Amino acid sequence: MLEDKLGRRFHYLRLSITDVCNFSCNYCLPDGYQCDSSRDFLNLDEIRHITSAFAQLGTSKIRITGGEPALRKDLTEIIAICAQTPGIEQVAITTNGFRLERDIDAWCKAGLTALNVSIDSLDPRQFADITGQNKLTTILQGVEKAVKAGIKVKINAVLLKPYSTNQLARFLEWIKQQPVTLRFIELMQTGDNQDFFRANHLSGEPIKQQLLQQGWSQIIRDKAAGPAQEFMHPDYVGRIGLIMPYSKDFCASCNRLRISSTGKLHLCLFAEQGLELRPLIQLGDQQALQNELVNLLGNKQATHWLQDGYTGATKNLAMLGG
Ligand code: SAM
Ligand code: SF4
Repeated sequence: MLEDKLGRRFHYLRLSITDVCNFSCNYCLPDGYQCDSSRDFLNLDEIRHITSAFAQLGTSKIRITGGEPALRKDLTEIIAICAQTPGIEQVAITTNGFRLERDIDAWCKAGLTALNVSIDSLDPRQFADITGQNKLTTILQGVEKAVKAGIKVKINAVLLKPYSTNQLARFLEWIKQQPVTLRFIELMQTGDNQDFFRANHLSGEPIKQQLLQQGWSQIIRDKAAGPAQEFMHPDYVGRIGLIMPYSKDFCASCNRLRISSTGKLHLCLFAEQGLELRPLIQLGDQQALQNELVNLLGNKQATHWLQDGYTGATKNLAMLGG
């Protein structure tokens, strides 16, 4: 098992397969994707080597992310590779949902077990304002299709000052009947969004207090479940999650490691740098790759220092997948 010096265990890999995106979310890529880095993304063989090295070291869950993972034409094959790797029990993707309606059946057939779709607003105009894309209707149809397919669906919504306060009621109404977990994510500061962060960051704590006052109860989760806090209510089919990276002890329950789309290991979303693994991945020597992963994990820090304004090498989350 991959375990660091603080006793945290890492059974969860977030695998980025591209940093390209077709949306221009105002908190992430406000000017759209800029093609200023290598686009030599991991190929299927390399992905196979990585997933089996992690699985051999006790990883049981892989989340495929990006950029926008559905921009890769071989996404369905990537899902199948992960799902067929012995030891991998859960394969999830995080997507902006633009291909959901068309592809969800193929993804499920390939072995997808869970899906996160980013929907920052249920108001079509606000959605377009935030993402630069007028696609809310088709994304919601895709969500319906995924729910019908019986797959576990989470909706990610970033908390943004100008939108979120009046959006909460609308989101709550929606999950009365929708069997999804709606996760509010506090806006995180990255290298590129400092001014936007200062103007738009909204704490999740008042929302938590509001939920508790309205009869929502916090679900006690296993430490291995990760840093989201979850809530349920007897009148609602859906659940609510809160991800508050600025809260005390957020990093104590860290259970994940990240691989970038060009094969670098990131010990934290806000690490100072990615650690080069590609030459070893390409060598195909499983044992050497596993030894290196264990060795590099020794450098994982206790916390991200985000509360001190330190964002590491992360210019935006499309670089690594959030
Ligand atoms: N393109 C896909 C999507 O949007 O779902 C996957 C990649 S995106 C970087 C992953 C998640 O990170 C999304 O839910 C997005 O809303 C979130 N995200 C991006 N930038 C963020 C930021 N600065 N703070 C908090 N969440 C952010
Ligand atoms: Fe693209 Fe996702 Fe970033 Fe939005 S949050 S710009 S969809 S990578």
